[in-house]
Amino acid sequence: MAIRPNSIEARDVAHVLHPYTNAVAHEKSGPVMIAGGDGIYVIDSEGNRYIEGLAGLFCASLGFSEKRLVDAATRQMSTLPFYHSFSGKSHETAVELATRLIELAPVPMSKVFFVNSGSEANDTAVKLIWYYHNAIGKPEKKKIISRLRAYHGVTVASASLTGLPYNHRDFDLPIDRVLHTDCPLHYRYAEKDESEDAFATRCAASLEQLIQKEGPETIAAFFAEPLMASGGCIVPPPTYYEKIQAVLKKYDILLVADEVICGFARTGNMFGCESFGIKPDMISMAKQLSAAYQPIAALMINDKIYDGIRIESEKIGTFGHGFTYGAHPVATAVALETLNIYRDRDILGHVRSVMADFQSGLHAFADHPLVGNVRGMGLIGALELVKDKATRESFDMAWGVAGHVGERALAHGLITRALGDTVNFCPPLIITKAEIADMFARAKVALDETHAWLQ
Ligand code: PLP
Repeated sequence: MAIRPNSIEARDVAHVLHPYTNAVAHEKSGPVMIAGGDGIYVIDSEGNRYIEGLAGLFCASLGFSEKRLVDAATRQMSTLPFYHSFSGKSHETAVELATRLIELAPVPMSKVFFVNSGSEANDTAVKLIWYYHNAIGKPEKKKIISRLRAYHGVTVASASLTGLPYNHRDFDLPIDRVLHTDCPLHYRYAEKDESEDAFATRCAASLEQLIQKEGPETIAAFFAEPLMASGGCIVPPPTYYEKIQAVLKKYDILLVADEVICGFARTGNMFGCESFGIKPDMISMAKQLSAAYQPIAALMINDKIYDGIRIESEKIGTFGHGFTYGAHPVATAVALETLNIYRDRDILGHVRSVMADFQSGLHAFADHPLVGNVRGMGLIGALELVKDKATRESFDMAWGVAGHVGERALAHGLITRALGDTVNFCPPLIITKAEIADMFARAKVALDETHAWLQ
């Protein structure tokens, strides 16, 4: 349908530059205007209701109408609407939130540094990795290894860590201190008849080869999102992290866990690190930290990294890093109330009580003619679409098959996300068993219609 002149849609096309959108296609299609929310549903400007099958962007854990969060923001707005934490200033909700996060941390942590986005948290981690190695007199130990198909954000350093071509191409990235090792997706990258364990061994050996080739004295850190959500819900084999961490330990390499999506019950434990036995030196978190009601993220660091900052403070004085809105009072108040709600309503217990239904609903798609691989954990999952189930041949990306499933799902009142050739599900954590069944029923219609479209 043509976009009506002077409509809000026309003004969107005229004035808004959309992230992760094909600019030329958008000029023709215009936006979907979202006007409100109710539980796990969002409502467009014409009154159509959609199940938010991706919790917005893997973040709206408590859905779209949580009154307690609105009240927490309003209260804070009327007491202290803004203050910063530069030059030793502080305020109550920042301190309370940091205290709670340290208590919740999956491994002993020392300090919390507040920022506004997952990208900023990961960029801060990169800067601290460099700062720390300068502090301890190892200025040559600066390279960072991430993985192909990883997603760690879009700022210059975090986009470099990201291992997806469209985040690098023509942005002149990655920067030269960032290297990428293998993606631990058994379905795609294992050799014929290679067991999950043998594949994990090969991934760890390949990491070690890269370290050897570059020189172990130059490798500072390894970044890992426990379950690689935006790469298409990549769940590494059970023994993968044990083998990877043995290599990191051998060469004295720091480990950063990116819990931006996994954190706060998504994988069936409070943190993805617990689901996979990961023992990081730093943890980045965002999204479900505030149920997405306020932009806030955090980087937790352990004593070892904090010691580096102390050494530098003695040497050069001020720790020269920080964002105006880091630890914003309204954001910290909302995040603190989010953690209160998780505790009061036992959100982890709820996730554990519905995740078997979610995973069985997801795995029921294994028989669908378009689905080559089903993967997931807790309340997150993806379907990888293939042209040929037997040979695992992928569709030509230009056909946009996963995107077509997304369009058909939208027509049936379900928002999902196509990432490459995967269709992704990551609903609000408050979803009920009945809503899970409804979500997958709508997804099934979308897949069937896409299958018919391809015939
Ligand atoms: N890390 C992971 C694992 C993410 O999924 C994302 C965003 O989706 C980021 C980092 C970047 O977060 P932001 O978009 O808040 O900068």
